[in-house]
Amino acid sequence: MDGLNKSIYDIGSDSAFAILSRSNELIKLGKNVINLGIGQPDFPTPDNIIDACAKALKDGYHGYTPSNGIIELREAIAEDFYLRNKTEVDPKNILVTPGGKAVIFYSLLILGQPGVEIITPDPGFVAYRSMIDYTGATAVPLPHRMNNNFSFDADELISLINEKTKLIILNSPANPTGGVVPEKELKKLANGLEKFPNVFILSDEIYSKILFDDNKHISLMAFEQIRDRVIVLDGWSKTYSMTGWRLGYGIYPKKLFNFAEKLAINCHSCVTAPVQIAGIEALKGDQKYVENMVNEFNIRRNFLTEELNKINNIECIKPGGAFYVFPKINKPNYTSREVSDYLLEKKYLATVPGSAFGKNGEGFLRISYASNMENLKKSIKCLKSFMTE
Ligand code: PMP
Repeated sequence: MDGLNKSIYDIGSDSAFAILSRSNELIKLGKNVINLGIGQPDFPTPDNIIDACAKALKDGYHGYTPSNGIIELREAIAEDFYLRNKTEVDPKNILVTPGGKAVIFYSLLILGQPGVEIITPDPGFVAYRSMIDYTGATAVPLPHRMNNNFSFDADELISLINEKTKLIILNSPANPTGGVVPEKELKKLANGLEKFPNVFILSDEIYSKILFDDNKHISLMAFEQIRDRVIVLDGWSKTYSMTGWRLGYGIYPKKLFNFAEKLAINCHSCVTAPVQIAGIEALKGDQKYVENMVNEFNIRRNFLTEELNKINNIECIKPGGAFYVFPKINKPNYTSREVSDYLLEKKYLATVPGSAFGKNGEGFLRISYASNMENLKKSIKCLKSFMTE
């Protein structure tokens, strides 16, 4: 179609949503689809959060709020961030958003433009690449390899920086791999970035509370040398099973905050008022629910990795966080998309092909274990039978 904004042709989409809608079509046709494609916890939102929202509605929280979010929520975010990272952030630099994705969108609208390079994880969350392309900036893939536990190599990252580099996007724990970047790599990166004072970092920490074994979350904001250039993205979607509530936040450097806020004012105005009240309850209320959910994810992670590794020609490392495994599937003459399509159409098992997350994802499959054990057991059977066909 002629006459549209040229950039609109460059924007990508998220395969997980396309796979979800195909799964729903198959379900309507009477098929028993197991959906391990979508990235959302299979637990309900905790009752105390729902009750806080319902009360807020009854109490009259029906109107616009300040665009950056109500102060009580921004203070609660700053407190939670301090408790976890021993790093003080000013509530004035926090922008409450309708989901974490808005932070990616606004950050790229501020920093992306033709002529600029943006380093982004490969494999990595699809929205980064889509939005980089939309702004006309050039995406520079940063490999996250299986033999490096799906982390990056700080020296390799630094070697990708040049005078055009404006932003580095990082995500730990990661979607689609579950990889966690070790502290020593983050330190090395923070030190290396001192030489590049004009480069910003968008640190997507949306899975920061979903960690296993002795993995610890370390925010990039904790490194003083780069603190004035880090944008932190986090939110409630994953930790509190609140994907449909649309609540997230960005902590912006002072010099970028006003621009992000202006985008918010012109786009979403503010996040749904009672949802913001619910967000306070989530952060300040009992965290037992999160602990239980992470324990359950841990059991599933252990089960899946062990069972996947028993299947010939599948190799799977145990990820440190999030709720995905990213096994390497060696099926001759099949691309990862063909594997995923076959599993969905013939075995009614929804997964996402690794190639949807970048070139380095080819040969892999993203399997979300935000589903019950019974489904996971069935999915192992499907994969076993597919691999022997
Ligand atoms: N970042 C990553 C890495 C994600 O996986 C997701 C959700 N799939 C988001 C951001 C966006 O989260 P939200 O639903 O809060 O917009």
